[in-house]
Amino acid sequence: MYIGFDLDQIFIQYPAYISSKIVDRLYKQKTQEGLSYRIPSRAEQLFRLATHTQTFRKPMKENLLFLAELKRNQRDSYYLITGRFDFLKKRTEAFIKKHNFDTIFDGMYFNYKNEQPHLFKDSIIKKLHLDRYVDDDFDLLNYLAQRNANTTFFWLNKRKEGKVLDNLIAVTKLQPVFD
Ligand SMILES: [Mg+2]
Repeated sequence: MYIGFDLDQIFIQYPAYISSKIVDRLYKQKTQEGLSYRIPSRAEQLFRLATHTQTFRKPMKENLLFLAELKRNQRDSYYLITGRFDFLKKRTEAFIKKHNFDTIFDGMYFNYKNEQPHLFKDSIIKKLHLDRYVDDDFDLLNYLAQRNANTTFFWLNKRKEGKVLDNLIAVTKLQPVFD
């Protein structure tokens, strides 16, 4: 199986004092035409960089260890696909190096050309013919699920479990992704 994973809120937590809702509000806009993500201004980028330190952004160890353990025992191929913009490149690379992502993932795809995250992820999912893809962004998953009928999407969240669409399933842990 070919399985793709998002980065933020799957393997890295948002800062504890900033709720997901606020991050969503800063970045995501839902218009009548559909989804749109905003690239922050330079001033915002500097603020965001200040919060992108180890202290504020903790690795989600449980998920990292779980996947690393699976990688040792399974033949599935894992791909990291992050919509993070170019201004976070250095921080992103430091994180993936520190946590040895190259030993876990068979390929890593970064949105350093600052494309709209949902369009970027859609193109990579199609290119890799992924069987499964895991993300925490429900709106983005909803967009992708409708355009990739042969891929099963998993929404990792804190509360909901079960089928949302034929190919979109809510999970509170990574385990069901591999069932
Ligand atoms: Mg995410």
